Amino acid sequence: MEHIDEKDDEKNLTKDTGLSEQGETKDSSHSDEYEKFCYMCRRSESQAGKLIHMPGDVYICQDCMQRTFDSLNNGNVRFLDIGAIDPSKFDFSNFMKQQIPKSQKVKQKKKEKKPEEAPITLKDIPAPHKIKANLDEYVIGQDYAKKVISVAVYNHYKRVVTDTMDDIEIDKSNMLMIGPTGCGKTYLVKTLARLLNVPLAITDATALTEAGYIGDDVESVLSKLLAAADNDVERAERGIVFIDEIDKIAKKKNTNSRDVSGESVQQGMLKLLEGSEVEVPVGASSKNAMVPTTTINTKNILFICGGAFPDLDEIIKARLTKQSSIGFRADLKDKYDNEPNLAKYVTIEDLREFGMIPEFIGRLPVIYSLEALSEDMLVRILKEPKNAIIKQYQKLLALDEVELVFDDGALRAISRRAMERKTGARALRSIIEEIMLDIMYEIPKDDNIGRVTITEDYILNKGLPIIEMRGVKSLLTTRD
Ligand code: ADP
Repeated sequence: MEHIDEKDDEKNLTKDTGLSEQGETKDSSHSDEYEKFCYMCRRSESQAGKLIHMPGDVYICQDCMQRTFDSLNNGNVRFLDIGAIDPSKFDFSNFMKQQIPKSQKVKQKKKEKKPEEAPITLKDIPAPHKIKANLDEYVIGQDYAKKVISVAVYNHYKRVVTDTMDDIEIDKSNMLMIGPTGCGKTYLVKTLARLLNVPLAITDATALTEAGYIGDDVESVLSKLLAAADNDVERAERGIVFIDEIDKIAKKKNTNSRDVSGESVQQGMLKLLEGSEVEVPVGASSKNAMVPTTTINTKNILFICGGAFPDLDEIIKARLTKQSSIGFRADLKDKYDNEPNLAKYVTIEDLREFGMIPEFIGRLPVIYSLEALSEDMLVRILKEPKNAIIKQYQKLLALDEVELVFDDGALRAISRRAMERKTGARALRSIIEEIMLDIMYEIPKDDNIGRVTITEDYILNKGLPIIEMRGVKSLLTTRD
């Protein structure tokens, strides 16, 4: 049936337009590797439907053909009678060229020129207290980490700017951050990079393997940095590289095979951390003959490594308990059992025992830990940062002229639920999104709603949010 219909259509079309269908039937018989496409709109036959074959091997889709005739009849060539066109003599391509008005020609967009960046001078580097104050606006708690990072970054960029490589050589301040998942490690680094306006590359150490094995070579982190710096080598050389999940490249214990994703990666990273000239593929993660390369000096790149180091607590606890159980300072055995932030007592020895090789730790002189987030901190994260999640929702609803209020009990209940998920602040967003779905769906239905208050009962599925009409107060009576 369909086949017949199609044929009918073709016939009709030929009758309507008076155009030849020979080309089409001829062409459809031989299977071309490429699809035909419309000369005007550039759509392929599968997108635009059957194409009409014009002399000069030009194909036009039916839409464009119709549009052309419409414009002819509206414009100054009114006299053109479609039925009277003799397709065998009609020079279509030339005709089309004449038809395209000048205004339709779209000028190519010029690439936006970025404002020239002035070279950083000593005065441009914010003092540590200013860096910390800026971080405070976004990152809640983690005061110690913010202080350490501010000083380390300040020193690092002082070293970069003054290029003091004379008699007193300032060491690089690469860092190692230890903290449970979702406590703000990545967020801290991201905020810092934005603040300092330097390119930042974030990689996962789990993706790295020794060169020659499946996975990314260590140098791929520099390719990412280069991409983040818009392929500006000079800018990349002053950037920050954040390597997350660094604990995953710890030396594998009790293994006889080659440790290509553990110790070997640590070995491979040594030269990057220290500062050396590295040949880096541009626009790809691994080198091969087809990819152009460039040379990056890592001397001034700040490397920050982060990881949760899950079993490190046990190692630290064992050491502390051993120390404190002998001699005059003997303590109770279970003294450290309830200590939530054991990581703050970390020493290089502990990290070695964990599986980091001494050369690697040696190149990360600034080691510090971040605290696990408490319920109070989660409440603050919900409402205090400059771009707090709650502020974002309040802004969204304010556009509908609705005020959104979370009462304290609700915030606590949300934080408690997030604590249960054990993924730090990361859980907050998904919880808020869950509870806000109904509200974001229902509120725009009624223009009279003036204020919504999220209560603890609503979070605990025991009650409803309080909805206040402009002027009148009432309860929302339905909840899906
Ligand atoms: P991780 O420590 O695992 O790298 P992230 O830094 O990625 O965790 O944190 C996940 C999200 O949680 C961040 O995007 C941020 O919005 C939020 N967050 C985590 N910690 C904090 C904090 N201390 N202050 C403010 N927001 C935080």
